[in-house]
Amino acid sequence: MNRTKKLIYLDHSATTPVRPEVVKAMQPFWMTQYGNPSSIHGAGRGANVALTKARQRIASIIGAKEKEIIFTGCGTEGNNAALRGIAHAQRAATGANRIVISAVEHHAVYHTAEDLASNFGFDLTILPVDGLGQVHIDEVESALGLNEEVALVSVMMANNEVGTLQPIGAVGELCKEYDVPFHTDAVQAAGKFPLHVDQLQVDALTISAHKIYGPKGCGFLYLRSGTPFQPILTGGSHENNRRAGTENVPLIVGMAEAFDLIEAEREVESQRLTVLCDRLIEGIQQTIPDVYQTGSPDNRLPNLASFIIQGVEAEGVLIGLDLAGIAASSGSACTSGAQRPSHVLEAMNVPTADAVGGLRLSLGKSTTDDDVDYLLATLPGIVQRIRSFAPAVA
Ligand code: PLP
Repeated sequence: MNRTKKLIYLDHSATTPVRPEVVKAMQPFWMTQYGNPSSIHGAGRGANVALTKARQRIASIIGAKEKEIIFTGCGTEGNNAALRGIAHAQRAATGANRIVISAVEHHAVYHTAEDLASNFGFDLTILPVDGLGQVHIDEVESALGLNEEVALVSVMMANNEVGTLQPIGAVGELCKEYDVPFHTDAVQAAGKFPLHVDQLQVDALTISAHKIYGPKGCGFLYLRSGTPFQPILTGGSHENNRRAGTENVPLIVGMAEAFDLIEAEREVESQRLTVLCDRLIEGIQQTIPDVYQTGSPDNRLPNLASFIIQGVEAEGVLIGLDLAGIAASSGSACTSGAQRPSHVLEAMNVPTADAVGGLRLSLGKSTTDDDVDYLLATLPGIVQRIRSFAPAVA
């Protein structure tokens, strides 16, 4: 097969293509139905109807009330709003001053919690994880049992680097017992698992549209009624006074369409991806020496496989894959040309020398059996070539 023309896109955890149905749903709201949903004239009312419909569709998928959905500009904003908005309000209401997060949170939560600690006087507890990247419920319980009052707990549903799932229902139950607001970053879990907010026992939940075949720059925060909250964006009275700024109607309509479509396909597609992903994991372990899987082998996202390839730097592997027409990503943040191990792998106690060889392959709707075969036929040669040129990483 001629592979030079087709991109094998194995980076769906970074972002996904917008589905044609979503583009179609957004289309009228750019140039025809462009009214401001806050305007009282007909054009504005039309946009407002579209906004209300999108809110209803989203609320019904997650078992929420319409007024509990706050549209945001991205997943990062949703996480910022949840952490900053709840922590400040809860402290003002109760004096609680501690924020609890896990050691493997996305930077949008991690750096926000660090900022709240460094610049706003909050105390911060970072829950450790085991070698598979899992938070243990007894750690959550001991953090909640501290003498100081906890303002907020934030633990993600599924990790974006290694795919490990967290025991969200159990964390939610504990938080309820201690009467502490609980937020989960469900950006990677959306479309892969049911997100019923009562079953999950969450008070706040973040979603980003571009991870579910919707547009970039759009998301929402679910906020349970009665949860203390101070808006991070102030101005007009949009979103029930919780997020000022004219709503991005086309993107919001697109997000609702994308969420409905992915929900309808979720079970069947998750099963298909699990089978493909298992074959990919097994194939890599069988064909490449000195490789091990990171994250939980069974309690994980159906579409994400991550590995340490010992004795190579991920950057070289990614370039090799890119030249072969395969898009993948690493578990390392590249800072000024130097590979720095990710905080997730560090928290899982992956040795630094290994962590620079972290590779993440994330499958999606476009991924076929042929794509997995091509990856399995291509990657071993790339790794072998790099290993033969480069001295082993110290
Ligand atoms: N949370 C997780 C787990 C993510 O994977 C991402 C994006 O990679 C985000 C939050 C941020 O989402 P956005 O890119 O919409 O800001």
